[in-house]
Amino acid sequence: MSAQTADVVVIGAGVLGGAAAFHLALGGHRVIVLDRGAPGREGSGTTAGNLHVQAVHTRRPGQEVPLDSARFLPLQRAASDRWNSVEAELEASVELRRSGGFTIAETPEQRAELIAKHAWEERAGIRTEVLDGDGARAALPLLGPTVTAATWCPLDGYANPLLTTPAYLAAAVRHGARLHPFCPVRAVERSGSGWRVTAGDLTVEAPHVVDVAGPWLGEIAALAGIGLRMTPVAIQMHVTVRLPETLRYLVQHIGEGLSVKQVTAGNLLIGGGWPALRLDPDGRSPVSLSSVLGNVAQAARVLPFVRDLRLLRTWAGPLAATPDEMPVIGEVPGAPGFLVAGGTYAFTFAPLWGETLRCLVEGKPAPVDVRDLGPDRLLEPAAPAAPYEEAR
Ligand SMILES: Cc1cc2nc3c(=O)[nH]c(=O)nc-3n(C[C@H](O)[C@H](O)[C@H](O)COP(=O)(O)OP(=O)(O)OC[C@H]3O[C@@H](n4cnc5c(N)ncnc54)[C@H](O)[C@@H]3O)c2cc1C
Repeated sequence: MSAQTADVVVIGAGVLGGAAAFHLALGGHRVIVLDRGAPGREGSGTTAGNLHVQAVHTRRPGQEVPLDSARFLPLQRAASDRWNSVEAELEASVELRRSGGFTIAETPEQRAELIAKHAWEERAGIRTEVLDGDGARAALPLLGPTVTAATWCPLDGYANPLLTTPAYLAAAVRHGARLHPFCPVRAVERSGSGWRVTAGDLTVEAPHVVDVAGPWLGEIAALAGIGLRMTPVAIQMHVTVRLPETLRYLVQHIGEGLSVKQVTAGNLLIGGGWPALRLDPDGRSPVSLSSVLGNVAQAARVLPFVRDLRLLRTWAGPLAATPDEMPVIGEVPGAPGFLVAGGTYAFTFAPLWGETLRCLVEGKPAPVDVRDLGPDRLLEPAAPAAPYEEAR
């Protein structure tokens, strides 16, 4: 077994692992990235890739508590700004589109929610415009008659997740990071003032560990004797056949989980957090037929042209939810050098969290105040970690 040293071991080669590795390697740190499988295959390979800038639907299916939008929005604003430089930094296209988006309402209660969120957005420096139903249809004639109001946000957008994570990892490697795919971490122990990570047939000693294992973030923390209240869940996406350019904007719903957009390749991507049947620990989650039917019917109601399209594929992907739906990022109290980052909107936050993790490792001020987003609020007694082989 070969022993290596590094400044930082990044566990998980999803979009957060890629962004963290890139920013750390750029800063001159010796970085080793470990993934149990192929990089970018889990949450980051199945995500919708939306950049959530205006306030998101506060209660998606399966979500226990509403999101604290007033706290979340300034983070969304900072994340949005951070995306502007991603393609230049990575020297790669990630098919970033910032053509704006509509969040629609169908009921009087949802309309009131749109107006309330517009006020929060103003306070967070996010420009949105409230439109009535006719105004919304004038701006986007594809919207159906049930739409009674909408907010327009010019900053909404999306990027291609199948390009984003590989671009981050490739840039990290160009700056000296070492990437080990198919290298499952099976032990994380204290070693002097740092950490010893055992993965596959590698042992790495480093003063810092960055746990960005997505749905398995809690499982990795448990290996280090840390209990974190994170809930892995699986949600669905649906994609139609390709069509000529029809929909230029991201369309979301304020009262229900729904997001629809047309991607660069021409397909329409429909999502919104509808639950899969269950999450399998190995990440292969079976899709729920009722979520397929529910999500697609909802899309066809809001955007009637969807009725004429053939559904091409549907899939489920895993993500890690926190009990308060807020992101988690920071060092675990009592475990110096052990940092975590994750949460349900990790794609939107990846560029910002990559830079923030570098600042946390370096003990420098983060680009945004993340002190109340730390893992301390999620700590619970650690369950004894199952031996890795048994956990599989
Ligand atoms: C269907 C779906 C739609 C989504 N839509 C959006 C959206 O529109 N906008 C948005 O902002 N967010 C969205 N999300 C959430 C976000 O995209 C994901 O949460 C994000 O991509 C997760 O990135 P990550 O790097 O934290 O985790 P992941 O991409 O899940 O990566 C974690 C990695 O850790 C590795 N790992 C696990 N265990 C081990 C181990 N023992 N050893 C080594 N490696 C290990 C895994 O193999 C995996 O590669 C969506 C998620 C899903 C599933």
